[in-house]
Amino acid sequence: MKITVVDHPVVAAKLSTLRDESTPAPVFRRLVDDLVTLLAYEATRSVSVEPMPITTPLAVTEGVRLTMPPPLVVPVLRAGVGMLDGMVRLLPAAEVGFAGLVRDERTAQASWYADRLPEDAAGRDVFVLDPMLATGGTLVAVVEVLLARGARTVTCVCLLAAPEGVDRVETAFPDDTVRLVVAAVDDRLDERSYIVPGLGDAGDRLFGSAPSTSG
Ligand code: URA
Repeated sequence: MKITVVDHPVVAAKLSTLRDESTPAPVFRRLVDDLVTLLAYEATRSVSVEPMPITTPLAVTEGVRLTMPPPLVVPVLRAGVGMLDGMVRLLPAAEVGFAGLVRDERTAQASWYADRLPEDAAGRDVFVLDPMLATGGTLVAVVEVLLARGARTVTCVCLLAAPEGVDRVETAFPDDTVRLVVAAVDDRLDERSYIVPGLGDAGDRLFGSAPSTSG
């Protein structure tokens, strides 16, 4: 796996406000949106393009366009949905699939409850959105399915990661077909598998603490 930790002062400043427990939900959502667009710039660096002729007011020249099939963006429910707008702003032609996995709070194991991904992902550049790479169980499960369905590349875009999660994804996918773009790698996981110092429960901070099975 190729990992990129986006080392940029604007990213660091926005991330600091995001971590602050007193940041209210509307500001939190806006910051996530800004951060994703900044991370997306790095995440899309190797997206597949092809040459295309264009006519400027002065000359005929060669530009590029994204190849078909278009990129696929996959927010992991629920918190990844908060990253969707920021990502598709940079890739308006992208298609969107959804991955729903629930984490057992006791065992920290992830299991599927919604697979809204194409059966055939052959040749696709896929961007998986999940704000928090904690144990890595969820991301490994999603990436495995996408590779099994033929994805050309899978880039995981996360706001924060724990070293334990990075190690797990790296062990599962040692080659560079899988990439991780993240704003920061934090210190550790706590006993509940929360990232420390982290920012708390990303889904709750984005959407409030609505009940249930979604992460
Ligand atoms: N999910 C979260 O929302 N926060 C964490 O710290 C870990 C997993």
